[in-house]
Amino acid sequence: MTRIVIIGGGPGGYEAALVGAQLGAEVTVVDRDGLGGASVLTDCVPSKTLIATAEVMTTFDSSYEELGIIVADDTPHVEQAARVVGVDLGKVNRRVKRLALAQSHDITASVTRAGARVLRGRGRLEGQQDADGSRTVVVTDADGEVERITADAVLIATGGHPREIPDALPDGERILNWTQVYDLDELPEELIVVGSGVTGAEFAGAYQALGSRASPSSPPATACCPARTRTPPPSWRTSSGAAA
Ligand SMILES: Cc1cc2nc3c(=O)[nH]c(=O)nc-3n(C[C@H](O)[C@H](O)[C@H](O)COP(=O)(O)OP(=O)(O)OC[C@H]3O[C@@H](n4cnc5c(N)ncnc54)[C@H](O)[C@@H]3O)c2cc1C
Repeated sequence: MTRIVIIGGGPGGYEAALVGAQLGAEVTVVDRDGLGGASVLTDCVPSKTLIATAEVMTTFDSSYEELGIIVADDTPHVEQAARVVGVDLGKVNRRVKRLALAQSHDITASVTRAGARVLRGRGRLEGQQDADGSRTVVVTDADGEVERITADAVLIATGGHPREIPDALPDGERILNWTQVYDLDELPEELIVVGSGVTGAEFAGAYQALGSRASPSSPPATACCPARTRTPPPSWRTSSGAAA
């Protein structure tokens, strides 16, 4: 039976694990953070969950203008397009993290059910290829326990990292990266999102809908995928003053 070790349990890794196991290979998938990878734990799932709240806020925000709905009982009169609801960001972020973890557990369960072995730890390749073409993957878990696994094929699916700006490194307080925003308990009054590609536009749009003054800031030539890009409102300006 072909022995496959997959390092990295994001969509790249866990989908390969499912297919490998279904085709009869002996599959081990190793991830240091949990199956689903960054995609589920910090990237796509959290950002889409945040956006889901932002979309409801947008619907409520436009509900007075279009439908005459006033949510708060003590709102005597709303002059113009007014904010009629508020957001508890701490609660939103707790839901974001809860759903991400639940999805990671679901993925672990389905990969295990398919017959693959799931190991939590950091994987690395050891030494050179053996004479029979096999390789050894060394897995170190959080307690420092080490396991060596021999594999006929090794798939490296360790994902990538967004770039960090050396003179503006995230401190988790004033400068936040894409994972630290889910630790916020209060909505920032003002937020500058560096990068106005798909991810930056999504974050800026979501925080603006939640009630922050959020603006994306990046060189105008930033590439983005049209299918997932929203048309930014005119109030969004890049640092150079051009519409984002
Ligand atoms: C904010 C944000 C929103 C996004 N939204 C979307 C979206 O809506 N749609 C979309 O298609 N894409 C989206 N993306 C991109 C998407 O997250 C990535 O394309 C996707 O995660 C890549 O999957 P992957 O399996 O290659 O790697 P990842 O999901 O990054 O998984 C790699 C895994 O490998 C683990 N790992 C790394 N090194 C080791 C090691 N040595 N040993 C063990 N484990 C290791 C990591 O901990 C991680 O769990 C978004 C990205 C961001 C940042």
